[in-house]
Amino acid sequence: MIRNYTFDEAYKRFEPHDHKCTYCGEAEMENMNDCYFVPLFVEGDRTNIVVYRSVKYSKVLIGIPRCRSCKDIHYDAKNKAVTISVVSVIILLGLLLYNFMNLNAFVFILGIFATIFGGIYGSSKLAERYVANKGIYTLQDGAETNEVVQDLVIAGWSFTMPTA
Ligand SMILES: [Zn+2]
Repeated sequence: MIRNYTFDEAYKRFEPHDHKCTYCGEAEMENMNDCYFVPLFVEGDRTNIVVYRSVKYSKVLIGIPRCRSCKDIHYDAKNKAVTISVVSVIILLGLLLYNFMNLNAFVFILGIFATIFGGIYGSSKLAERYVANKGIYTLQDGAETNEVVQDLVIAGWSFTMPTA
């Protein structure tokens, strides 16, 4: 199976035996639910699929040990970033609508898409900045330092869902 991990059938997730926080490298995780469970996907015909008691999984959740403080930092960063992005998107959409008469249809539609995609992208970048400023790993960077995650990625697993 996966070394140093226990599979939890109820939650369909791998729980780490090591409780040292990956994100700050200092504190200990107190509660398993404070873990960041990173989803990993593999295509159905892959040979390196995870098999547990003869059930095959094409999606697994790998628990990255995380302390309460790092969990709070991740949540706060996301909340702040989403709030700022939503407000910015609303203001920019407002400006676009306000100038509706002065813009041609193409520019108007382009502006709406650019604003929305910019908001989504900006929000994730902003969250990463907040987390980095606190001196801990971002969710993704922490997950990528995990040996089990690295082994699965080498074996063909990916962070994004395979497109059918
Ligand atoms: Zn921590």
